[in-house]
Amino acid sequence: MPIEEGGFYDRDPRDFELRVAIIYPGPYRVAVSSLGHQILYFLMNSIDSVMAERFVSDLNGSVESGRPLDEFDIVLATLHFEGQYPELLRMIEGLKKPVLVGGPAVSFNPLPISPLVSAVGLGDFEVLIEEILKVKDEGIASLPPKFFVYELKNKAKFNRTPRLSPLRDQIRVLEGGVTLNKFLLEISRGCGWGCRFCGIGWHWRPRLDAPMNEVREAIEYASDLGFREISIIGSDAASSKEIKDTLWEIAERGMRASIPSIRADQVDSELLDLIRRTGGRMITIAPETGSDRLKGIINKRIDNDEIIRAAEEAKD
Ligand code: SF4
Repeated sequence: MPIEEGGFYDRDPRDFELRVAIIYPGPYRVAVSSLGHQILYFLMNSIDSVMAERFVSDLNGSVESGRPLDEFDIVLATLHFEGQYPELLRMIEGLKKPVLVGGPAVSFNPLPISPLVSAVGLGDFEVLIEEILKVKDEGIASLPPKFFVYELKNKAKFNRTPRLSPLRDQIRVLEGGVTLNKFLLEISRGCGWGCRFCGIGWHWRPRLDAPMNEVREAIEYASDLGFREISIIGSDAASSKEIKDTLWEIAERGMRASIPSIRADQVDSELLDLIRRTGGRMITIAPETGSDRLKGIINKRIDNDEIIRAAEEAKD
């Protein structure tokens, strides 16, 4: 495993009231690029009474100490897509501890995974901490309505954090003194366009935007930590009124940036110039269909002329 900075090492589990295992059902190199996994790790470790360690599919024992999973009191896992379920089940096989899962995949549809785990948290994990802390002493009955528990068949709430702050402390992976991973900068969460096929657009609305002063501080922090590249995160980041200032700040610090897919109607020459200045050589536009009838049905009404204009401007 490469050397990393920013993790929590050399701790005695006896010094903590609650030991939490945080699973990413995939390899280490993918886990360090998962914002949800990192948010959970730093959030849990920010609580004095909690010791949280990470588990990934290609390491035996925790990343921090090599301790086995059954030495932890509870297990948390973030699931981004259904393809991760088999790996999670392999990692928790035979375990007799509460397993709580969250993340987009299970928030859209908790039913397939819910009989196989203790509880499913819907929405933003940040607002589920109080329940997570109680589960060791009070059991899974204390989890509803913020969690869905299959055995209880309870009605569950979709949980939203009231405000978004970019995560500052992050794992930095080094090899030969070079930072291998990107700093993950979440500038928005959710989307207000309401495309009918899109889980984020329906469940995570209204969208939240991180305040620009906090985005600026996070970029400065990333630069001070030694990151050379920032991955901007947000389902509809280009519609953020701060996207250009964000790219400008990154460019001013001589850092590179990568941005998620952009709606064609948000592409203009200034945005393209900033993408180029931060090392970008391509953009992703997701038209979904060229048919006006289907655009109406899926509620993603962007004219073909607009899509072609954006592509031509990007090419120039
Ligand atoms: S614009 Fe993108 S993120 Fe927003 S609802 Fe449509 S597909 Fe989803």
